[in-house]
Amino acid sequence: MKIFKSINKLHNDVNFKANIGFVPTMGSLHKGHVSLIESAKKRCEKVLVSIFVNPSQFNKKKDFRNYPKDILSDIKILKRLNVDYLFIPKTKDIYKNKKYMKIKIPLKDKVLCAKFRKGHFEGVLAVMNQLLKLIKARYLFLGLKDFQQLYLIKKFIKNKYYIKVVPVKTVRFKNSLAYSSRNKLLSSKDIDIACKIAKRIYSFNLSIKRNFKNVSNLNNLKNNISKHNIKLEYLEIRNKFTLSKKINRSNYKIFIAYYLNNVRLIDNF
Ligand code: AMP
Repeated sequence: MKIFKSINKLHNDVNFKANIGFVPTMGSLHKGHVSLIESAKKRCEKVLVSIFVNPSQFNKKKDFRNYPKDILSDIKILKRLNVDYLFIPKTKDIYKNKKYMKIKIPLKDKVLCAKFRKGHFEGVLAVMNQLLKLIKARYLFLGLKDFQQLYLIKKFIKNKYYIKVVPVKTVRFKNSLAYSSRNKLLSSKDIDIACKIAKRIYSFNLSIKRNFKNVSNLNNLKNNISKHNIKLEYLEIRNKFTLSKKINRSNYKIFIAYYLNNVRLIDNF
């Protein structure tokens, strides 16, 4: 695996005319990232992974500082997976000027996490824009775990870049908690709680699949989940194509965000 810390070297050594799959990450890799990389390996000649903890997408400095980092273990994982290229840029290489650090999102998209994490997706789109200017890959692999992120990135790059977005299924403990770098900040007791919450929503989703009228039980679910020692930010059912509230049995998705001991977790079912 070739490791690049500078853009010049990356541009000299990588043939961007080849079929390259790009997997952007913030490191602290887990089974979810591995699944993206494996999908990329199946579809592409070469796989390029980036690790960059993007400061402009954190709306709280403390959250940025506390974000789990483990570059040595990440490199081991990537080598084991036979990844071709790893790009580890520095903030000053990505953002040569402060004005590149945010890209506006439309008012109608300011729902769910965009409503509660002010400036977060503006930072996500900004980093994607900077990365895609540098990395002319053919495919971009993104996880459905971050559904709204995927939704906004897809919309943003549609008429701007040629790269094709490939969504990858969420990897989770059996019918339970989704893998996330932030899980590393949780105690085993908290992991148990997060697993219970995920299982509750999973069963609720099954009940809706059986009978759509069960969407009306959302408030019961909210009360049930709130009994755990968590701060629920939102639990909503929305249209997965538009993120509006116009739902029916074939377009709905359940979204949750909550804090467990100051660690913010998100998921969707
Ligand atoms: P992150 O390092 O958290 O920025 O995530 C990098 C990519 O991995 C994003 O496209 C995420 O959606 C994806 N990802 C994170 N967790 C999972 C998971 N449990 N299953 C599948 N993809 C994931």
